[in-house]
Amino acid sequence: MENVPDLIRHIIHYSCHLLVPFVIAKLFWKENWWKAGLIMLATMLIDVDHLLADPIFDPNRCSIGFHPLHTVWAGMVYLGLLAIPSWKWRAVAVGLLWHLCTDAIDCLLGGHCLFCSLPEYLYVMS
Ligand SMILES: [Zn+2]
Repeated sequence: MENVPDLIRHIIHYSCHLLVPFVIAKLFWKENWWKAGLIMLATMLIDVDHLLADPIFDPNRCSIGFHPLHTVWAGMVYLGLLAIPSWKWRAVAVGLLWHLCTDAIDCLLGGHCLFCSLPEYLYVMS
């Protein structure tokens, strides 16, 4: 994929992180959409895993599959959280999964190959 200009890429990325959670919350949790949106926003806390990396921030790095809370394994745990019968935990799960989608979109817009590391995952699992 051709690289998208940085400004457009950042607008898309931060809109996905900061605005879309409230749109999703409005769709799923009409009564508690405001709280659900804030819970989803709070899932940005998984970005603390960037502190383990050196350098902490690298604009040319793709978070997905690199940082521990941004891996396929972490995604499976987030998916499992959907099974908890509580709208708050489901908001956490949807927020975390949306966070991974948002970062994945950013990787694609930055010209990264998202599924290039998939064969390694399949190899580890077999
Ligand atoms: Zn992230």
